[in-house]
Amino acid sequence: MSSSNKMSSPVKLLASEASIARFRRGLLGWYRAAKRDLPWRRTRDPYRIWLSEIMLQQTRVAAVLDYYRRFLARFPTVEALAAARLEEVLRLWAGLGYYSRARNLHRAAQEIVARHGGEFPRAWEAALAMPGVGKYTAAAILSIAYDAPHAVLDGNVARVLARLDAVRGDLRAPRRWSALATRAQQLADPASPGDWNQAMMELGAVVCLPSPPRCEQCPVRRFCSAHALGLENSLPAARRKRAPESVTLAAAVLLDPRGQTLLVRPAEADSALFSRMWQFPAVALKAGATRASAIAALATHLRRSLGIRSIKPAHLAPADDSRHTVTFRRIRLATFLLRVKKLPRVSNSRTPLLARVAHLAVSSATKKIAAAALRTVPAVSAHRPRTTRP
Ligand code: SF4
Repeated sequence: MSSSNKMSSPVKLLASEASIARFRRGLLGWYRAAKRDLPWRRTRDPYRIWLSEIMLQQTRVAAVLDYYRRFLARFPTVEALAAARLEEVLRLWAGLGYYSRARNLHRAAQEIVARHGGEFPRAWEAALAMPGVGKYTAAAILSIAYDAPHAVLDGNVARVLARLDAVRGDLRAPRRWSALATRAQQLADPASPGDWNQAMMELGAVVCLPSPPRCEQCPVRRFCSAHALGLENSLPAARRKRAPESVTLAAAVLLDPRGQTLLVRPAEADSALFSRMWQFPAVALKAGATRASAIAALATHLRRSLGIRSIKPAHLAPADDSRHTVTFRRIRLATFLLRVKKLPRVSNSRTPLLARVAHLAVSSATKKIAAAALRTVPAVSAHRPRTTRP
């Protein structure tokens, strides 16, 4: 429809049962012919579908593919995952981010084996009781694996629905979100709930993009009120984003003559930026902290937390800064190398080779700090800074 014919008053092109039936046929036909060939679409195994849905939370398909294959090669069944050590699960997850997903997956696998005979539960309430499984994920798994009639609703599907019905306002407002959930269920094809949900997700992922939507390629364009009204680029209304928060993190990479370093696992609140995984001793500072103030704060932290009483700011050799982003936090990682004759003995710590840190179950931030320290090691060796004794 040309912009000159576009209607200026509200329309609802998906009102009658007949139009909904045509809409379903159009969307499902398009999906079955044009869907991307993804490994989790070649199976009905609930374990594999569950794993893919967890990995895809907040993560792009392209980033998930290799992780999904590696994870299944090591843990081909829910029993294998349940029997694994958490450390190994986290190691295979390292780099994918949002590590609580891996912890919850591991715990849920143990519950599935212990209480559900090794099969992802079929009942809605039991599925929702699994660690890490919310309404969207439960609806996706149950519909795709078991053909259960639950429609999915997440940000992508909500965007598609909002455009189809020309819904104004903040979609996340509770009443509007609840109306969208009702609408998602009303439009879903009861004969093919799994394909239907995937078709809606696929439409949101490859055609009805946030900006701009590819309406000229859209298989359901004639049912779309936003398109008819010329509002496809302005709906849904943009959400107010949380203002980014800048943080500086000063991290100490201790290094002994054998190339070993110290990783710690502090209390939860202190280690949130490292996803509660092994990390270098670190202290958070206000954004824009000077190098001198970072060194002074880090030296104090090492004295208090590791008992390195003899440490002086001059012992901390600066390495490159790196950047890291976690949701709304923009983090400057200020890395300092501290050569020691002997690593301090502290509880809840480990002492791997610095060169091995990137291969352990650690967050991306810890890998960046290790890489910055490793780049600095030859330069530091050249002018031999003083070592300190714990
Ligand atoms: Fe989205 Fe455009 Fe299709 Fe409407 S016509 S559903 S705005 S891609």
